[in-house]
Amino acid sequence: MNIKSKNTVYFLFILLFLFVILVVTGEPAFARPGGGQSYSGGGGGGDYGGGGGDGIGLLIYLIFSLLPPYISIPLVIIILIVYSIYKKKKLKSGDQIVSKPTYAAVAQNSQTIQQQLHSLMATDPNFSRILFLDFVSSIYVKFHTYKYQPQNLTKITPFVAKSIIDTFKGQPSNTQVNEIVIGSLYLVQISISADKVQILTEINSNYTSTTAGKSTRYIVTERWMFERAAGILSATPEKMQKLSCPSCGAPADFSEAGVCAHCGTTIPPGKHQWMVSNRAIVFTDTVKTNSLLSYAPEVGTNYPTVCSPTLNNEKQYFANAHNTSWDQYWSVFYHNIASKYFLEIYKNWTDLKWKDLRHLLSDRLWESYNFWTEEYKRNGYQNKLDDTQIMKIHLAKIEADKFYEAITVRIFASAKDYVVDRNGKVLAGNSKTPRIFSEYWTFIRRKGVENDSYDMKTCPNCGAKADKIAQGGVCEYCGAKITSGDFSWVLAIITQDEEYKG
Ligand SMILES: [Zn+2]
Ligand SMILES: [Zn+2]
Repeated sequence: MNIKSKNTVYFLFILLFLFVILVVTGEPAFARPGGGQSYSGGGGGGDYGGGGGDGIGLLIYLIFSLLPPYISIPLVIIILIVYSIYKKKKLKSGDQIVSKPTYAAVAQNSQTIQQQLHSLMATDPNFSRILFLDFVSSIYVKFHTYKYQPQNLTKITPFVAKSIIDTFKGQPSNTQVNEIVIGSLYLVQISISADKVQILTEINSNYTSTTAGKSTRYIVTERWMFERAAGILSATPEKMQKLSCPSCGAPADFSEAGVCAHCGTTIPPGKHQWMVSNRAIVFTDTVKTNSLLSYAPEVGTNYPTVCSPTLNNEKQYFANAHNTSWDQYWSVFYHNIASKYFLEIYKNWTDLKWKDLRHLLSDRLWESYNFWTEEYKRNGYQNKLDDTQIMKIHLAKIEADKFYEAITVRIFASAKDYVVDRNGKVLAGNSKTPRIFSEYWTFIRRKGVENDSYDMKTCPNCGAKADKIAQGGVCEYCGAKITSGDFSWVLAIITQDEEYKG
């Protein structure tokens, strides 16, 4: 086989793989407290090179750009035929083809990722999954904000492969993308080779795209591959939490050649900090307002809890680090943290007082739910969760890295969950019968912090009333950023039971 035909076979495999992803991946849910709603429905239309819905545009684009015409044209015809048959089938059955992994598969996958994480942390003791996810969400938001602004897109050149930036060259720049909300974000796979480390991530988001005064809200699932040279030590939390120059720490502002406007250092992509080396849209659809009123049947409540395979060691490690026994700490965490936060967060969700919760949630989580509470308000709706009661809490995972600790619990609760309009008329849900649901909640805290009797009403640093928390989670009384877990536990992730991957 000569090199050219080898390459062709290789590309065909990639295309087949992408197509399989397109077909088997289910739609991303809008995960809000209670987990009752999800987005569904038709529409479509991606933003990748003006391509069509469901990511098919990306696939066709790739085929035409990677393969010679005598292969690409027949291939596209075959794909379109298969795709249209699939679409028809989907319309007939009235729902999406969703391949839900079994419990065993999820548990196995969770164990694999954990082993891969340990291997990575053995070579990079500064690696923190929590900080990495912060970095991924920063770059994701910046990328989408800037993608149609060529003059700004270069500002992040050291963090995004040139091939991706080039895709947006010559795109119409009269489109604005904003209100980017990341719903969920997780690691799919980590691979370490002699010269580089790669981390595949999956990002579920939604955002508004406006062209000539017409706005459309998209819901998107993307897979982004991050890459970094082997043997690099991850940056400190301060440099990972915002997009900054790896050399001087100033906010990212680079020339097309990767020269920092602040210190003049040239930052080659992927040599000091992670860069996005590849990007694929797995799913895309448009969001409808009536989605706020759609109730899907609760799924996953009866699934067994996905526990870390090394949970006993994790308990022991945590207890030793805090000079206590795990049983003693669990009792504190169960009552003072998990239960209290859960009830407080639900209460504020119901009352549409999301602004009052700023100090209890990570920036990303707060922003994503704030968007939805604003949507309810804008439509004159209120999602009531009456008689919320916690039934039980299971411990799922305890993580520790050089900078952070994280505890994930699965909370089982019941509530009368329904939506009313301004006159109190019930529009959706059930105001009489409680529904039972469960969710995985991940709390994070900076290592060394021992604040477990925090009252949740005050700034955990200065003790003033937590009523003036500025953009970026900074307390206006003391100037400290309190939403990164530097002073108390902060809720960082909510995952629906059927979505949790360990
Ligand atoms: Zn610099
Ligand atoms: Zn303060």
